[in-house]
Amino acid sequence: MEHEEHYEVIVVGGGHAGTEAALAAARMGRKTLLLTHNIETLGQMSCNPAIGGIGKGHLVREIDALGGAMGYCADAAAIQCRTLNARKGPAVRATRVQADRVLYKAAVRRVLEHQPNLHIFQQAVDDLVVEGRAVAGVVTQMGLVMRARTVVLTTGTFLAGLIHVGQSRHAGGRAGEPPARALAERLRALPLRVGRLKTGTPPRIDGRTIDFSVLEAQAGDEPAPYFSYAEPARPPQVACHITQTSEETHAIVRAALDRSPLYTGAIEGTGPRYCPSIEDKVVRFADKVSHQIFLEPEGLDTPEIYPNGISTSLPFDAQWRLVRSIPGLHKAVLTRPGYAIEYDYFDPRDLKPSLETQALEGLFFAGQINGTTGYEEAAAQGLLAGINAALAARAEGAWWPGRHEAYLGVLVDDLITQGLTEPYRMFTSRAEHRLLLREDNADERLAEVAHRLGLIGDARYREIRAREQAVSREQARLRSAFVRPGDPAVAARLGQELTRESSLFDLLKRPGVRYNDIIEMAPSEAALTDAKAARQLEVSVKYAGYIVRQGDEIARRAHHEGMVLPEDLDYQGIRGLSTEVRQRLARHRPATLGQAARLPGVTPAAVSLLLVHLKRIR
Ligand code: FAD
Repeated sequence: MEHEEHYEVIVVGGGHAGTEAALAAARMGRKTLLLTHNIETLGQMSCNPAIGGIGKGHLVREIDALGGAMGYCADAAAIQCRTLNARKGPAVRATRVQADRVLYKAAVRRVLEHQPNLHIFQQAVDDLVVEGRAVAGVVTQMGLVMRARTVVLTTGTFLAGLIHVGQSRHAGGRAGEPPARALAERLRALPLRVGRLKTGTPPRIDGRTIDFSVLEAQAGDEPAPYFSYAEPARPPQVACHITQTSEETHAIVRAALDRSPLYTGAIEGTGPRYCPSIEDKVVRFADKVSHQIFLEPEGLDTPEIYPNGISTSLPFDAQWRLVRSIPGLHKAVLTRPGYAIEYDYFDPRDLKPSLETQALEGLFFAGQINGTTGYEEAAAQGLLAGINAALAARAEGAWWPGRHEAYLGVLVDDLITQGLTEPYRMFTSRAEHRLLLREDNADERLAEVAHRLGLIGDARYREIRAREQAVSREQARLRSAFVRPGDPAVAARLGQELTRESSLFDLLKRPGVRYNDIIEMAPSEAALTDAKAARQLEVSVKYAGYIVRQGDEIARRAHHEGMVLPEDLDYQGIRGLSTEVRQRLARHRPATLGQAARLPGVTPAAVSLLLVHLKRIR
């Protein structure tokens, strides 16, 4: 049975990747359909209700800069907000919010349901419609054929999902939800490399049974940082609490290892090394007598608490005892068991940088299906896949950011060139130009493309550009305004006399001197009054030297980095390349010379040969 409506973009899955993909495509004016198992679970957070953190917060700011919804929804649902690494350099400062899971979901649904060009329909997708080498639509569980020019799959942990709690296991996409079995089988038939990964979640606790009086409270920061440009009203703020595992906890875990699916071999998939289960922590860090646990509220209207740090798939009796061995939790009652889930993922090296599959034209993958873990990584990819599906639907060229432009560029480049051996999550250390990729300048970095693609409106674009201009005007003013020794206002702010005449720019470069100090020393009507602009000015002045050096390095690399490798390039015909390198290049088909250089096994000598060949065929 064929549905009479045809679409330009169909997105499958209403998680973090799917919602951003659908919103981006619809915002770009494409007739878009979002198909998902259950409308009630749009924007559902499968694990802890928190958004952001180091590296991840940077992605959320970029999603917001590209007109995405995650930052806005996290702000609207935030019940505890913090700036992590506040005392470290600006590159690694990151926003993290604890969200009310119900408010978050409601915010996502509200945004989706108010988006023009977007149709949401509740149906499982079981199959793809394929015509020649291109996708042409999907087939739903009730046999409905829905046609589209492009399809974005964002099926998360649902493909052939298998849930483990101790030795008990059952098929599921996440707790209480069905897996996507038929679609998994269909995708396995495509010429794509497939693997299994696993992730896990802790049991949840009834907060009314926790003795908070013996625990350390952790309040959020004041003023609370925002992710989004829109800065919506915030719900009331609450505290999280901190406790730690005890030696008894570790003894309980060790005694139950012979019933742990992680250690009996029942789980084949690889889990995230950076987010280990409590079983892994006790085994891998055997000399540690205690691990910190954050007790995070799941929401304002529920007593449920998420114990961050004890993700587990041990049998339920062991989960119960291990929780009760933790200070403050001696009488704790569990509301949900912890579990691990294994699922299919597809090797991201089979994708183009636009996130289109190399196997089928018009078919895009985004989110956990590509082997990443985390809401933010999923949402960022969803946004990119949505943009490119929208562009491809009208035969327009693809867009993706470079590694020096956005964490999103780092994420995609890492995935498609390096692949993965464990679930991939973002860290600031993955970005070689991190001083340029700060949370505070995401709008400035991405406004141009966001505006050109129709992802942000004229007013916002103009405001960002005006702010940028104000910052450079103020930089120029600070360079040309001088203060002299003997000025009491200057000595008072610096805590010492000036020894020689200095520009305000040089004074601001001094450690500990803030822009406010400069304004106090030398008041001016031209001074910036906007806090965002003032923050950017401070960073751009204090780190001016590093920023210029990183810019120079990027310019040096840019020429070769962006050199396009033709899609039909015959690697067999390139003289001097080893068979292994030829095969690797032919399999990955890198889009640029820079991507080719980052493929494992592709040596600098091989890159030089490629360069020579490219010059010859041009
Ligand atoms: P999901 O959020 O999983 O959304 C997938 C959506 O697709 C769902 O709405 C689903 O119903 C829909 N769908 C799937 N198949 C079909 C189909 N055939 N037809 C229609 N709709 C379909 N991340 C961390 O960073 N840290 C953690 O500790 C962590 N722990 C986790 C623990 C568990 C148990 C789980 C399940 C996930 C965990 N995650 C964790 C991962 C995080 O939840 C995901 O990375 C993120 O949700 C991925 O987003 P996504 O949009 O790719 O997929």
